[in-house]
Order: sequence, then structure tokens, then C-alpha cells
Amino acid sequence: MTTHELPGCFIDGEARAAAGGPRHTVVNPANGEAVARIAVAAEADVGAAVASARAALPEWSGATPADRAGVLAKLAALLAERADEFVAEEVAQTGKPTRLAAEFDVPGSADNVAFFAGAARLLEGKASAEYSGGHTSSIRREPAGVVAAVTPWNYPLQMAVWKTAPALAAGCAVVIKPSELTPLTTLRLAALAVEAGLPRGVLNVVTGTGPVAGEALVGHPGVDVVTFTGSTAVGRKVMARAAERGARAQLELGGKAPFVVLDDADLEAAIHGAVAGALINSGQDCTAAARAIVAESVYEDFVAGVAELMGKVVQGDPLDEGTDIGPQISFAHRDRIAAVVDRAKAAGARVLAGGAAPDLPGAFYRPTLLADVAEDSEAYRDEIFGPVLTARPHTGEDDAIRQANDTAYGLAASVWTRDVYRAQRASREIRAGCVWVNDHIPIVSEMPHGGFGASGFGKDLSAYSLEEYLTVKHVMSDIAGEPKKDWHRTVFQLR
Ligand code: NAD
Repeated sequence: MTTHELPGCFIDGEARAAAGGPRHTVVNPANGEAVARIAVAAEADVGAAVASARAALPEWSGATPADRAGVLAKLAALLAERADEFVAEEVAQTGKPTRLAAEFDVPGSADNVAFFAGAARLLEGKASAEYSGGHTSSIRREPAGVVAAVTPWNYPLQMAVWKTAPALAAGCAVVIKPSELTPLTTLRLAALAVEAGLPRGVLNVVTGTGPVAGEALVGHPGVDVVTFTGSTAVGRKVMARAAERGARAQLELGGKAPFVVLDDADLEAAIHGAVAGALINSGQDCTAAARAIVAESVYEDFVAGVAELMGKVVQGDPLDEGTDIGPQISFAHRDRIAAVVDRAKAAGARVLAGGAAPDLPGAFYRPTLLADVAEDSEAYRDEIFGPVLTARPHTGEDDAIRQANDTAYGLAASVWTRDVYRAQRASREIRAGCVWVNDHIPIVSEMPHGGFGASGFGKDLSAYSLEEYLTVKHVMSDIAGEPKKDWHRTVFQLR
């Protein structure tokens, strides 16, 4: 892909040059080469984008669910049709392997938009009824208004779709700010939505940094709902900013998923699941398997199996079909991961695989297994967001659950056992927004994604996510038609 100049914003249905500020270079971390130079949005661009969304809101929120569904269905079809363009751009800006983008990111995004095309027609409330006897009460589900979405760099297209598809289905207008590292596919998605028939101004994109464009957007008085996916530290800042004016906020934050292996687990399945679960997207996945908590009796076999399999994972050119995992998002992020691993090594963790950068030109780090990490260590407690799995033994089911829950996060977890009773107990006891049994990672459009505790609150995906973008309005209508009503006695005597 050649370097090209991009105007930086998509406002009121068209690409627009950002009002000022420096140009940012989008870099392919697989080779360090420039992919695009993009104008960075300033506060004035954010203001223009929010004004565009506010102006477009009445028409879109007043459209019938069928009309909104029609546009989303067309967008899903176009996304599938143009999959190759999105795959190429996603690979260029993230360095992820073509295989992952072509089999997961892009088809998953198209499926998600298709799901919300259907969900747009299922805006449900409780049944209407006469609760007082003299009135009929009904519920209206109305769009929450203008949505500000702020997204991270790990799955740029999917994150854009997870936020915008339910908001558009609900009848909201959106301004989205993708990560400055990966803005390209979000801009492409907005242009495609207009091609699919989305009225101008309903979906706007501002690019740029968090402290400038991000803060201006989440703090804008014209925004009704803030939806954020990113790190816990930034999410808390975003929520505080939204709270200054009482705006609703939904946060999808970091994770440190436990991967609990009980002594009766199918060990081969657990080993394959751990390697895939830890290394997907080079470990830059908020639900990635991060803490293997393994029964003492099978611990050494498990770590040996994981180390062996990790050693076979192929790193290299993302465009090569033989490549399994790509680089980290940037050299700076790769160096942060390396520093955490080095400190874990110094503190006594056993490095059974990886533990260093390979001899490749990009921001690569080798798949790494750290066994016997201390429970209070940074490697075990903090999100690394890289291809690093930590492991510790447990002494039985109770100890395994205790260790699984010994974290501030609560996004995802898995339990590996052949015993249905133990699986059910663990699913109940583990505190996380998603618990997989004998698998780790799969997601589907129909089921919710979202965490507890330091992993945030609210849901992406599924009909639950529509709730983030809807209001509940009660309409109570007098059906007696009497000018003097019984309840008036509580205010004045009937005369
Ligand atoms: P980040 O928090 O650094 O940035 C996320 C977004 O917030 C970016 O667009 C960034 O520009 C913006 N931002 C930064 N400072 C801001 C501010 N002060 N005000 C407003 N916006 C601001 O996260 P990242 O490094 O891009 O992504 C990695 C993180 O995202 C990890 O912690 C990961 O766990 C998390 N994540 C969570 C989920 C989930 O569903 N829970 C999914 C993907 C990623």
C-alpha cells in the first residue's frame, strides 16, 4: 500500500480536512513503513461533527425501524462485498495477519451490522396495561440522542462496528473517534454507510489524539451518550468528563482473563486453547487468556505443552498466508511488553517460551510463557496486552476459583473440565462478563460482551447493547375522560 494523504474527518456525509493541527503518520508496525498521513482533528472539527450529528438526528430518529434496518442491511452487504479493501487496510494499519483480518475482523463486522439490521425492528418494552384502572400506561423506546464513541487500535473495524451499529439501529446519530494509530477503516466504514443510504451527518468521524479530539468529544455539551472502549485508566477519565454534565457513559475496559484448568480437563484441548486464546491478535485482545491457573497434578505437563506449541507459532509478514501472528501495534508498545517480561524474569518467573523479540524488522515480540509468576507480581496482575501467558498451579477447585477472582478486572474467563457439575459451579463462581467452558475467545453477534469491576460496565454486541442507546419513556393516558379525578383529593377537596 502506498502512502497517501487523508483529510482526517468525515463530517456531514463527506471527507473533510481537519481544521488545523499537525498531520499524523499511520505506520505499519510489521515493517515500520508509513501507510498514510492524516490530518489530526482539533476542537473545532469535533464541534462541527457534533453539530452535524445533532442536525441529522431528527430525521434518523424519526425513520421507521424498517427504514433503519434497510440501510444497515445494505451496509452489511456492501461490507461483505468490499471485504478485500477493508482487510488490506486493516492489515496495513495494525500489522495483523491477513488470515485473521479476512476470517475474523471483517466477516465478523459484516455479521454484526447484519444482526443490528434485524435488531432495529425489535425495540421492545413491557406490555401496555391499566395499572391504575383509569389510565393506560405504555412504554416508548426512544433513541438516546447523539452518541460519542471512542475506540482503541486493536480491532479498529470491529470496535467501530460494535459501537455504531447498535447506536444507528436504535435511531441515534454518532460521532466516532478511532485511535490515532488506526483511523483508516473507521473512515472507510463511514463513507460506505453513506453509500448504503445513511443520511448525511448520521455517522461522523473525527480522528486525532485522545487528549485533544477525544476529550473535546466526550466533554461536548451536544453529546448525550458516551461509549468508550479502551484502557481502564483512560476510561475512568472519560467517565469523569461525561459526569461533569451528567451524560450517560458506557465503558468497555481492560481485562486479565483467568484460564482455569481443573485436574480432569482434556489437556490437549486446554493446551491448544491456551495458545490460541493467549496469542490471538498478538495478545492484544481484552479477553485474551492471560492467567493460566492449572491443577498441580497436570501443571508441568500443561506448561510443557504450551511452551512447545508456542515455539511452533510462525511470526512474519502479515501478508504471508503462513504467518500465524503479527507484530505488536507499535515499537513503543512492544518495548513496554519486553520490560514487563524482563522484570518478571528478574523476580524469578520461569520463562518457558519466548521472552525476547525475534530477529524481524517490525514491532514483534515472541510468544511467551511465564510459569510460576508470583501472585502479587505486575506480570500476573496488570494487563500486558501482548503475547504473554502467565501460569500458576492451584490446589483444587476452591483455590482455582479464588485465584481466578483475585483480580480487579472481570471481563472474560474460561474453565476447562470434563465434569459438567464443576463447569456449572465455576461458571457461577467466576466473576466475569463472559465465562467460556472448554474454549476461550469465540464471540457471536447475538450474545453480549462487557465486563465487571475494572473492566467497565454495559454491553457491546447482542440486543443488550441496544439498551445503551435507547431511553425508556413512560406514557400514561387517562382513559376515563372525567374532568374531576379521584386522586385530585390528595391536593384539594372535590367540589
Ligand atoms: P487507550 O485507552 O489508550 O485509548 C482508547 C481510545 O481513547 C483511543 O481512541 C484514544 O485516542 C482515546 N483517548 C485517550 N485519552 C483520552 C482522553 N483523555 N479522553 C478521551 N479519549 C481518550 O486504549 P488503547 O491503547 O487504544 O487500547 C488498548 C486498551 O483497550 C486495552 O486496555 C484493552 O483491554 C482495551 N480494550 C477493551 C475492550 C473491551 O471490549 N473491554 C476491547 C478492546 C480493547
